[in-house]
Amino acid sequence: MSGHDAREASGTPAAAVAGRLRITEIFHSIQGEADAIGWRTVFVRLTGCPLRCVWCDTEYAFHGGNWHAIDDILAEVATHGAKHVCVTGGEPLAQKRCLILLRKLCDAGYEVSLETSGALDVSAVDPRVHKVMDLKAPGSGESARNLWSNLDHLLPHDQVKIVIASRADYEWACAVLAERTLADRCMVLFSPVWSKVEPRELAEWIIADKLPVRFQLQLHKLLWNDARGK
Ligand code: SF4
Repeated sequence: MSGHDAREASGTPAAAVAGRLRITEIFHSIQGEADAIGWRTVFVRLTGCPLRCVWCDTEYAFHGGNWHAIDDILAEVATHGAKHVCVTGGEPLAQKRCLILLRKLCDAGYEVSLETSGALDVSAVDPRVHKVMDLKAPGSGESARNLWSNLDHLLPHDQVKIVIASRADYEWACAVLAERTLADRCMVLFSPVWSKVEPRELAEWIIADKLPVRFQLQLHKLLWNDARGK
């Protein structure tokens, strides 16, 4: 769901939501993936996503949520005393004002990461933000949504994540890695879909093929068996 759609669905007049974002949850946990894994982190989960990946583990963020003023979000983030903040969803960039939140978090001195689907334009994201951008493999059902021009807006501190649900997804990921020279752009993460690919199997494929990628398991699933962390 786009931010516009989310606003209409809520029945809230446009004037009342200026400077606000629709938020599913703000919580304090341990970063479970990507380059900031293991850091105590405040997560800001924006409501709504225009994609429907078949293995999505955050469907509860598709609808609902509550409007929060951006300055109130910053105030709540500050109460947790963490250096790292992760803006996630849903698809956070579906709400245009997410860009303002990202900039204000950077201005406040946080280490900011953005988890995004790779389907929406990332070119206007503040360059201080560490983008963790998915490329959707065929097993997601949303591979046609990959916005390939986004690759040109990745910075060396960003990360591309490919979630792998089968050997066919793995072979797709290997082809993209080579054809798009992904590893020359930034760190590339390969992650198994929980319960679809044995983690050890994916690890052994990566070793056998000598890939320049980083294998990852989602730490929050190991710790809490939960997409939200704690
Ligand atoms: S992009 Fe993310 S939130 Fe949206 S359906 Fe896919 S996995 Fe779920």
